[in-house]
Amino acid sequence: MDFALSPEQQAVRDAVVRICARFGDDYWLERDRLGGFPFELHRALAADGWLGICVPEAYGGSGLGIADAAVMMQAIAESGAGMAGASAVHMNIFGLNPVVVFGTDEQKRRMLPPLVAGCEKACFAVTEPNAGLDTTRLETRAERRGDRYVLHGAKIWISTAQVAEKMLILARTTPRADVKKRTEGLSLFYTTLDRGRVEVREIDKMGRKAVDSNQLFIDGLEVPVDDRIGEEGRGFEYILHGLNPERILVAAEAVGIGRAALARANAYAKERVVFGRPIGQNQAIQHPLAERWMELEAAQMMVQRAAWEYDRGMNSGASANAAKYLAAEAGLKACETAMLTLGGYGYAKEYHVERYLREVMITRLAPVSQQLILCYLAEKVLGLPRSY
Ligand SMILES: Cc1cc2nc3c(=O)[nH]c(=O)nc-3n(C[C@H](O)[C@H](O)[C@H](O)COP(=O)(O)OP(=O)(O)OC[C@H]3O[C@@H](n4cnc5c(N)ncnc54)[C@H](O)[C@@H]3O)c2cc1C
Repeated sequence: MDFALSPEQQAVRDAVVRICARFGDDYWLERDRLGGFPFELHRALAADGWLGICVPEAYGGSGLGIADAAVMMQAIAESGAGMAGASAVHMNIFGLNPVVVFGTDEQKRRMLPPLVAGCEKACFAVTEPNAGLDTTRLETRAERRGDRYVLHGAKIWISTAQVAEKMLILARTTPRADVKKRTEGLSLFYTTLDRGRVEVREIDKMGRKAVDSNQLFIDGLEVPVDDRIGEEGRGFEYILHGLNPERILVAAEAVGIGRAALARANAYAKERVVFGRPIGQNQAIQHPLAERWMELEAAQMMVQRAAWEYDRGMNSGASANAAKYLAAEAGLKACETAMLTLGGYGYAKEYHVERYLREVMITRLAPVSQQLILCYLAEKVLGLPRSY
């Protein structure tokens, strides 16, 4: 078994680290204070082709795997860009996987290259206020009228909808009461976010101010049939294809931001002198840092295993969920320990760790909560009765 990065992965990491070095701590501190999408990072990554890392070469991408994309996303978060940097490109990396797998050749040619080139950005519109994690209860309706569908409904928490030109949206085409299985009757569309028909209202939130999350109010959005991905009614099945890669990438980002926090805490522990010696000479400071290092490394191994399974076409459900769970916990603890190591200064924005602490919390909430991961593992791995 080889635990090292492959030469290609090392090259991915080196190149992404070089790009991210152009966006230092002050850049992210300002984005955190003022908001404003990090267009500059998005453009820089697009210019060197990184947005197409997982897109097949035939459509302008590099055709690499999720393991390689995880290296890239981790490097972005670890650079100090945190979740603000990672989320600015996250959806573009894996999000159009249903198009890659289920789209027609015409759709792939139309939809993928603009995303890779960075001239279009996409958001992912699944979550709804009245459905929450119970996705099959979503209420947004898509009614077929000739060669188009007309959509009505509401979505919530949709990230990057302020700046996205396109959205991948899941809507109900057959009422829940009329389908045999609750996962049927939902359809997937990749279409233009027409702001004349979709009101996008930003949610004021705890962290990651640079990357907006929004309520969407959809009133008569017209979607050409050509923008439907795959067959009508099978959208839920299609989005499942993107869920495991998304969990793996979020996990990689959580390890990345945790490592950024740990590096800051470690450097501070060496420099800060109190009672006539560096605080890092005290075991009460050293031991939590050593524990955090172990937890991040262990989570990282689960990320690699999940990516390895996914890239070989194996069932990666258990390890992708476990990776997301373990990495989110390890990332959070690393950020909290970093703040405590810096003492009062940890609470000051200019030392950056309080920003990491606010941002890392996202990885525990989305794209799926920690509780639901435990429910999934209990059912699918341990064979216990379904509890939700
Ligand atoms: C910053 C941010 C960005 C996001 N970006 C996007 C995006 O771009 N696109 C998108 O579609 N969504 C996005 N989301 C939504 C995110 O995926 C959801 O918030 C998440 O899936 C949880 O849904 P909910 O908030 O409605 O929680 P709910 O479903 O209301 O659950 C609330 C709590 O109850 C727990 N719970 C519920 N049922 C059970 C049960 N049976 N057993 C145990 N615990 C249970 C949950 O674990 C959770 O802790 C984002 C969320 C955040 C915070």
